[in-house]
Formats: sequence, structure tokens, C-alpha cells
Amino acid sequence: MSNYHLGQNPVFIPGPTNIPDPLRNAMHVQTMDHRAPDFVDVLRPVLDDLKKVFKTTSAEIITFPSSGTGGWEAAVTNTLSPGDKVLIARYGMFSHRWIDLCQRHKLDVEVIECEWGTGAPADLFGARLAADTDHEIKAVLVTHNETATGVLSDVGAVRGAMNGANHPAMLYVDCVSSLGSMDFRMDDWGVDLAISGSQKGFMLATGMAIVAVSQKALQATQTATCPRCFFDFKDMLGANANGGFPYTPPLQLIFGLRASLDLLFEEGLENVYARHHRLATGVRRAVAAWGLTLCAKTPDLNSDSVSAIYVPEGFDSNVLTNHAYDKYGVSFGVGLGEMAGRAFRIGHLGSLTDVMVLSGLATIEMAMKDLDYPITLGSGVAAAQEYFRQSADATLSQAA
Ligand SMILES: *Cc1c(COP(=O)(O)O)cnc(C)c1O
Repeated sequence: MSNYHLGQNPVFIPGPTNIPDPLRNAMHVQTMDHRAPDFVDVLRPVLDDLKKVFKTTSAEIITFPSSGTGGWEAAVTNTLSPGDKVLIARYGMFSHRWIDLCQRHKLDVEVIECEWGTGAPADLFGARLAADTDHEIKAVLVTHNETATGVLSDVGAVRGAMNGANHPAMLYVDCVSSLGSMDFRMDDWGVDLAISGSQKGFMLATGMAIVAVSQKALQATQTATCPRCFFDFKDMLGANANGGFPYTPPLQLIFGLRASLDLLFEEGLENVYARHHRLATGVRRAVAAWGLTLCAKTPDLNSDSVSAIYVPEGFDSNVLTNHAYDKYGVSFGVGLGEMAGRAFRIGHLGSLTDVMVLSGLATIEMAMKDLDYPITLGSGVAAAQEYFRQSADATLSQAA
């Protein structure tokens, strides 16, 4: 895209997300010596403050120069051994990729196949764990927000099922596309390992995996035999304790993370979640007005960070997203895996306002109309406008 002004358009992909100016500026810093004695003054408060976002007081925060996928790999290799049994459900492209990663690390992966558009099956997990009387299952893996289908799973219910079965397995949660935009409660939910990244709710450039590790998971590192080097928790914790990294840290991202945490805390985490809920509700009103359907099967599964929307029978969602990009210079999420060609996605997480969301809805409406979708031009925008008009006051007065 060579036209500079097109680069001013927000993206509506569910990550990487729009980077607000204060964060771009914060990352625009000259090199600093990461072995200098005062580097710790930069790093330590960032690690400590990240605990507030995960809502944990007891876990250790570990960051790696990587994307979220590296966080999965770190979680698995540090705490498990080849042959270890893990239990996971497949209900979208991201849970699918996590399964693949576990299999490639030679874990014994027991997969519960779920219809895409549903979430983590707490009851099925509970029944399976209750039957595992020898406690062979070492970990239950949950994708909190399935970015491919726009489904948010109930992690607390999974923990409840694990406790109900009286099973000692650890609970690993991928919160890459939920942390910092929807409520996450590591300690309350008894999460042992939580995995996130810099480029979604934290509104930063891609390049950092952010992992929260419970004391129980730290214990597990002592017996885990999966090979690990770059992602070794022990190396990282040891280096962090002395104010450094085992290798060159992504300095600009650490400065960015400082600014991101400041922004999130300034708005207030609960207000950040409320804003996402509001923006997502506006999008869902638009989808209903178009007469289209969400991939999420029931409203309780609706994600506040991304909506996956089926295109009508006979239409190809890839043609739609390509058209929106080619003609209007705006990116929407494509359908992934089973949803390829069948659904497009509107990412509504990170740095986003009513006005930005309305522009996205208006754009995709134009694109749909261009392609003869059976929708009424302006219908989705109007539905979102009505909702935003009625619900705006509370948010604005909170921000003031
Ligand atoms: C984005 C994402 C990831 C990680 O992807 P990377 O491209 O490696 O950062 C993992 N899980 C979910 C649910 C995601 O949305």
C-alpha cells in the first residue's frame, strides 16, 4: 500500500492491533546498555506491574523476545517431558496450533474434538479427569479466547471441573488475545501457566511473549525433561534476579510495555474491559442488523475482542476481505482453518474508540454492498450508532 494516507486507517484484524501514539513514541528510544546497572530499574517494575494485569500475586512473570507462539513453547518445554499426557480441546485454529506444538514436542496429547464456535468443554474435561484415577494427565490446556471463532471460554468453570474431579493436573491458559482486553484472573481461577504476547491487548509491536508462571509450574521445571535453551525459565529468572537477561533483551519493547501498562492503569483495567464490551456490543448489533450470524454458537460465548462473522451462503469471505483491502485500504481478519472462505473477522481489541469501530463497520458494509451481499447499506452502522449513542455517556464521564 503506497499511499501514505491509507496507512492512517486503523486495522480491524485481531492482532497485531493498532499502536497508539504514546506507545509508538515510547518504543522510539536510543539503544541503552542492557548490562548497565540501571537496566534493572527499567525491567523490574514492568515485570511487577504485569502481575496486576494477570491478577496474580504469587506467579512469576517471564518475558521472551518472541511472539505468543514462543510462549506456548516455553510453557510446554519448561514444565513437561516427552510422553507426558496433556488434555486439550480443539475448537478453532489457535487451539489446533497449540495441539500441533504439543505433538511436535512428543507429548501424549489427548484431544477432545469440539464443534468450532463452541468453547472449552468444562464438563467433558471434568468427566475425563475423574476417570483418570492414576493421574496420568499432567496438564489441561485451554485457549481462553479462540481468535479464529470469536469464542471466549469460561476458565473458572474449567478450574471448577478440575477441582470437582479432585485432579492434580496443572491448568495452562492461552490468553494471548484476551489479556488486557477482557477480564483475566490467574489466581482466582487457579491458572498455573498463562501465556500472552505484546501485540494484542498490550497494543505494542509484535516481538515479546509474556508468560505468568505459578509456583506449582515452577516446581515442575525441576523434573521436566523437554529440551529447552532459549526459552529456559531458570536461565531467565536467574538473569532477571540480577537485573538482566540471558541474552539481549528487546529493549524498545520493554519501554513500550512500560507505557502500555501506564495507559491501561490510567484508564483502569475494569474500564478497559467495559470499553471492549461496549465496542463489541456495537459490532454485534451491526452484525444482527445485517442479518448475519456470528460463529460463536451462543451469546455467553461471545468474545469482546474479536467477532467472527459467517458470510451468507454462496459468498467467499476471502473475496470480501481482499476487496475491503484493495478498494478501501482497510484490513479485516480472514477466516482461518474451518472458517476459511466462510467467515471474516472484525478485531475490536486494543486501542480503539467508537469512532474507529464505526469506520470499520462502514467500510465492511461498503465492501459487502459492492459484492452484492443481501444487506442494507448503513444498517449495521446505524445499529451501532444507536447503541453507542445510548451507552456513551457513562464511558465518557469515566474517562474525564
Ligand atoms: C495471536 C494468538 C497467538 C499467538 O500468535 P503469535 O502470532 O505467535 O503471536 C496464540 N493464541 C491466540 C489465541 C492468539 O490469538
